[in-house]
Amino acid sequence: SLSCGIVGLPNVGKSTLFNALTQTAKAQAANYPFCTIEPNVGLVEVPDPRLYEIARRENSRKITPTFVEFVDIAGLVRNASKGEGLGNQFLAHIREVDAIVQVLRCFEDPSVVHVEGDVNPVRDAQIIDIELIAKDLQTVEKRLEKVQKMARLGDKQALQELGMLEDIKKILENLEPLRRYRSHLSEETWHYAQKTLFLLTTKPVLYVANVGESDLPEGNRWVKELEEYAKGEGAPVVMVCAKLEAELVELAPEEKEELLRVYGFDEPGLNRLVREAYRTLGLITFFTAGEKETRAWTVLKGTKAPQAAGKIHSDMERGFIAAEVISYEDYIKVGSLSKAKEKGLVRLEGKDYVVQDGDIMYFRFNV
Ligand code: GDP
Repeated sequence: SLSCGIVGLPNVGKSTLFNALTQTAKAQAANYPFCTIEPNVGLVEVPDPRLYEIARRENSRKITPTFVEFVDIAGLVRNASKGEGLGNQFLAHIREVDAIVQVLRCFEDPSVVHVEGDVNPVRDAQIIDIELIAKDLQTVEKRLEKVQKMARLGDKQALQELGMLEDIKKILENLEPLRRYRSHLSEETWHYAQKTLFLLTTKPVLYVANVGESDLPEGNRWVKELEEYAKGEGAPVVMVCAKLEAELVELAPEEKEELLRVYGFDEPGLNRLVREAYRTLGLITFFTAGEKETRAWTVLKGTKAPQAAGKIHSDMERGFIAAEVISYEDYIKVGSLSKAKEKGLVRLEGKDYVVQDGDIMYFRFNV
């Protein structure tokens, strides 16, 4: 499954956030013994009220949500790319995740040391990026050396690769992460940077603005600065108060609701974070529904019906005939699956159908 790596400078609230996330997972884990894989890896339920609404209407005996994986990647310090601290190990871990969750300190608290002296999330985000950029430059330079040799021997393919490497290098040398300059690169070069070189700065980023309790609910000037900065790359910013989230997970449901209401929220910030992380990973959800079970399934945006069926069982992909589909909105309008069928609102879709977020699907297949 796809995973998000939580990164940030020391003392920005990463562990507080990660613990709150996995605590939530543990609370929900009764049915999911696989929830904690390793101490620093947690599978977290993707909160989706649609799932529970469908299950309620279909009188489902079992409800199965979908999950996203979070990895707590501690150890980023200045000069990590030069091997400072656990630098190299840290960067190797980032290579393995599919998206980066950058936690940025937007809270003032004299009792919590700030490693850079004062609160400044944009500067901190750039410090993190500098390390990723430095690592990417190392990767590019290593590859350049090899390719230059091959090009000198007259290898045509090497010549072409050389051009791509030089375009990539130019951006990195300006100390810019590639994701901010995607439009400056050809599709082919971007793909090469991402899928062949696995460069760290091609990974999608989600920024978490960790604010203090007294900044809720509207945030503060640092959050605004961070939002402005994130706009430059079209990245989402999720504001949370990690400390409050950590308190919330300890509470009984009624107390939780009450505390949320005090701050003017109708759900924990973690819910928003998990949903945004899911979107950042390019994931969408479709549902299967019935009396026996209503279940959420994860696919990459753009997945076609047979491959979606394959998530459930490989036989269903191999023997795929057609999919019966209704969107969540239409389903809610008509009220239930049986009514939808009665009214002929369930569409029949073939193998080229691209699954849409919220689709409720039933697959017909040959065994
Ligand atoms: P990490 O080093 O990034 O993992 O940071 P921690 O999660 O260990 O947090 C560092 C310190 O900051 C701890 O003492 C936390 O209690 C505190 N902290 C974390 N989030 C908040 C917050 O939202 N507000 C305040 N005031 N303190 C926080």
